[in-house]
Amino acid sequence: MVKAQSVRTCIGCRRRAPRQSLLRVVIKTAEAGRPDGMPVIVPDRPRSAEGRGAWLHFDERCVDQARRRSAFGRALKTSGQVDIGAVESFVKDESFAKGRDTNGTSASRMSNEQ
Ligand SMILES: [Zn+2]
Repeated sequence: MVKAQSVRTCIGCRRRAPRQSLLRVVIKTAEAGRPDGMPVIVPDRPRSAEGRGAWLHFDERCVDQARRRSAFGRALKTSGQVDIGAVESFVKDESFAKGRDTNGTSASRMSNEQ
């Protein structure tokens, strides 16, 4: 028997992958967003934030592809421009950390944002 596994599709490369291997991203609530009202997309590291999420590999190429085809907005049901700066820098850090010796220096940076 094959164990049923939760699989999600990466909005960048469109490949399917187990959800544990993907990053979940969500839209920040309007109150916490930018003053100009542009939706802000942030990584949902615990994968537990409420609302609609989208899934991505921890890969800058996937972030880039998703941005170019406006997949963030589509997946998160918003129109127009979205701010994905937080996701970009998160993935950049993450893949950077993965490519090196991990001495536990990179982990705690994300938690200071409410
Ligand atoms: Zn991908």
